Amino acid sequence: MSAVKALKEERVVAEHEGRQITIIPRYCKGCEICVKLCPQSVLEIKDFKVHVARIQDCTECMLCEIRCPDFAIEIAGKGKKGKS
Ligand code: SF4
Ligand code: SF4
Repeated sequence: MSAVKALKEERVVAEHEGRQITIIPRYCKGCEICVKLCPQSVLEIKDFKVHVARIQDCTECMLCEIRCPDFAIEIAGKGKKGKS
């Protein structure tokens, strides 16, 4: 049971100057929707999972989080209301 819980909580967090991009690899199916939508080319696919390549360029536009069909990516930062 504890292994299942640990797997559910597995997250990969990238941070830069108060900004956080959280990936939940278990949910990501590598569809590339977020990669193609990101206007700043922050995201890349590696080994069939999304990966944060250039967090310093992220503008917290939220497109990736809003459009991911699997809730596999979350943005938090100064620009996001209630999450700063
Ligand atoms: S849109 Fe979601 S499921 Fe698709 S690659 Fe991005 S994070 Fe993964
Ligand atoms: S919040 Fe916007 S700029 Fe940042 S990674 Fe997502 S789509 Fe790209």
